Amino acid sequence: MTADLVVVGSGFFGLTVAERAARELGLKVTVIDRRHHIGGNAYSETEAQTGIEVHRYGAHLFHTSNKKVWDYVNQFTTFTDYVHRVYGVHKGEVFPLPINLGTINQFFRANYTPAEARALIAEQAGELAGTDPENLNDKGIQLIGRPLYEAFIKHYTGKQWQTDPKDLPAGIISRLPVRYTYDNRYFNDTYEGLPTDGYTAWIERMADHPNIDVQLNTDFFDEAQPISKGSVVGNVPVVYTGPVDRYFDYAEGDLSWRTIDFEEEVLDTGDFQGTSVVNYNDADVPFTRIIEPRHFHPERGYQTEKTVIMREFSRFAEKGDEPYYPVNTEADRAKLLAYRDLATSEKDVLFGGRLGTYKYLDMHMAIGSALSMYENRIKPHFTGGAKLESGGVDA
Ligand code: FAD
Ligand code: UDP
Repeated sequence: MTADLVVVGSGFFGLTVAERAARELGLKVTVIDRRHHIGGNAYSETEAQTGIEVHRYGAHLFHTSNKKVWDYVNQFTTFTDYVHRVYGVHKGEVFPLPINLGTINQFFRANYTPAEARALIAEQAGELAGTDPENLNDKGIQLIGRPLYEAFIKHYTGKQWQTDPKDLPAGIISRLPVRYTYDNRYFNDTYEGLPTDGYTAWIERMADHPNIDVQLNTDFFDEAQPISKGSVVGNVPVVYTGPVDRYFDYAEGDLSWRTIDFEEEVLDTGDFQGTSVVNYNDADVPFTRIIEPRHFHPERGYQTEKTVIMREFSRFAEKGDEPYYPVNTEADRAKLLAYRDLATSEKDVLFGGRLGTYKYLDMHMAIGSALSMYENRIKPHFTGGAKLESGGVDA
């Protein structure tokens, strides 16, 4: 085995580490992935009947305020000027999201000024106004008041997480802006767009280096494969981006994850919903949202006879399902601490990415965190002989 570094997982975290180590340090890097394709959850492909690019593991919107990450990713792709906007259906009516002055005035059938709307929401937040609660339920009420919380957050979150919002961390909802203007951009970030030639072209360019050897359909825990946990750990430095509990054979118990079932349908219409994402915020609709991927790329001039849509159904992941979102209850956090302890004693194994650190990372965060791991740990080890401290990364 000739690799200087083995990377388990070809998602954005793993590929960023591999690209830097190969290009900047000239290391030979072997990247393995259990799937039949590279790119992890950001992988996309062309839907055969419509010619429309479909994000295979759910809609992926790129956005960041991190200039270092933006400069890094622009080496591999240009970005379109797509700006993400989301609408939500509540009681048969369509509202702009995230909650903004347009949502508030439509919901209350009013013509409030920004100051009047602020005062109203503060009143409706009651005793939680101005506080900084730690759970999603109280944080949601504190941010937008009880009536809007119950209309747009409570049931959607219930469907998405199947966990009482009181047991979910406030951070999940703090991701969403609340605005007292009519601005309904979904993200607040400085840079935003979609890769002009699609995600897979971007991902392939990252892996396109003579020192990077990608081996697909290769599971790190299948000891019959030449590159497996048993044969590699302790002999070659490893960056592991699969689920941390799986690495330790679930010794400290299973971490809980949420997965999504996608129901894809090709329809004989050029436009199903007039926009890329519509959320269904009420409890009586079983899916959380409908994605219509043609609207991610209006500049492409796709044919107009057919469109493709995906309904998303969320549920707890069982073993064998794709683990998409860490649920992160208190019990999970206790298990995670135990796994972190175990990780520090694994010789020359670094844990990274969404699955390896059990963190809700967006693409730009996964890439930023991989760049830090490379600069702070991998590069000093290979260029100056610094000890490769095992364990996780702080994203
Ligand atoms: P992943 O992409 O999950 O890659 C991990 C890889 O490891 C996978 O390819 C997996 O097959 C491989 N692997 C796991 N176990 C093994 C094993 N035993 N052996 C070999 N290989 C293994 N981010 C955004 O910025 N914007 C969005 O709009 C957005 N939407 C999302 C929607 C969904 C439904 C999901 C699930 C994620 C979304 N993300 C979004 C997050 C984005 O997917 C992640 O930030 C990014 O994929 C993280 O990359 P990663 O490398 O950490 O993990
Ligand atoms: N959320 C909600 N209603 C919405 C949109 C979002 O309650 O209409 C909550 C929900 O708990 C979700 C979180 O806000 O998990 C973050 O939303 P985001 O759109 O970022 O979720 P993701 O795209 O990551 O699934």
